[in-house]
Amino acid sequence: MKYIRTELVCPKCGNITTIQRKIGKAKKVGHIKDLYCYVCREVTKQYEINDVTKFLLSSNNQNQEEKEIRKLILERKNK
Ligand SMILES: [Zn+2]
Repeated sequence: MKYIRTELVCPKCGNITTIQRKIGKAKKVGHIKDLYCYVCREVTKQYEINDVTKFLLSSNNQNQEEKEIRKLILERKNK
């Protein structure tokens, strides 16, 4: 069984968690998953971005939700 890496962003703190998914069960950017955030120390509704570098470079972060997530990531990186 093959796996791919995918990244999710915590909507509360902007922390990025990497998980593995089985190929064929990959989710699109914007998928929401309940996942434990070790920064918040709780399960949060994390936003799937697949690949943070590609996500940040992508110019089609058009919808409001993606813009918010992008801002969170950038703010966290600057800390
Ligand atoms: Zn968090």
